[in-house]
Amino acid sequence: MKPKKSIAPPLSVPPHIIKSRAAVPAAHRLDIEAILIPPSRIQRRVSELAHIISADYRGKEFVIIALLNGTVMFLADLVRRMEFPLQFDLMGVSSYRGGTSSGDLEFTRPLKLDIRGRHVLLVDDILDTGKTLRAVSAELASLGAASVRTCVLLDKPAGRVGEFTADYVGFVVPHLFVVGYGLDHDEKYRNLPFVGVLKEEVYQAVR
Ligand code: 5GP
Ligand code: MG
Repeated sequence: MKPKKSIAPPLSVPPHIIKSRAAVPAAHRLDIEAILIPPSRIQRRVSELAHIISADYRGKEFVIIALLNGTVMFLADLVRRMEFPLQFDLMGVSSYRGGTSSGDLEFTRPLKLDIRGRHVLLVDDILDTGKTLRAVSAELASLGAASVRTCVLLDKPAGRVGEFTADYVGFVVPHLFVVGYGLDHDEKYRNLPFVGVLKEEVYQAVR
C-alpha cells in the first residue's frame, strides 16, 4: 500500500510572534513564551488528516497504535473524525534514562490488540530525532503488522538524526521546545488547548 502523502504546510514562527505574549492567556504567561498553533488551527488540521487517512484506509483491516502519553488529545480528536470502523490501542514507550545508548527504548505498556496481518497507523505527538518512531515501527513490523505507517501532529525536521519521514504530518515546526495539546514538560502543560513555546528559563530551571 503506497502512502498518500499529506500536505504538511510549513509553519514558521516570525520573531514578532515569539516576542509578543499578548495572545497567551494570563494564566500561562509566566511559563509560555508564545502560542505557536492556536486551538482552531489544530482542529482544522486534525480534521484534514482524519479525512486523508480515512480515504487511505477505508475497507482495510486497520488499527491505530498511539504512543502514551503525549498523543492523548491528538488521538481523541483524530479518531472522532474518522467515520468508519476502527480499533486503537496504546503503547507506552520511554527512553532509557542514565544510559549512554540514547537510542534504546523501553516498552512500558505492551499492546493488547493483536496486530498480525493488519494495517497499522502508528501515531505520535512529535517527530524529532526519529529514534522513537524508527524503533517502534520496527517493533510493530516484528509483531506481524501487514503494513506500518506513521502519523505525527508535529514534525521538527531540524532535530532529525539520520533519515526518517512520517507518512502523515500535522504541522512542521521550528527547532523549539513545544508544549500543550498533550505535549509536556516535566509532565505539565499537557492540558493546554494550544501548542506553545515554553520559556527557556522554565526548562532550564528543571535541569
Ligand atoms: P524522537 O525519538 O523523534 O527524538 O523524539 C520523539 C519524542 O521526544 C516525542 O514523542 C516527545 O516525547 C519528545 N519531544 C521531542 N521534541 C519535543 C518537544 O519540543 N516538546 C515535547 N514536549 N516533547 C518533545
Ligand atoms: Mg513522546
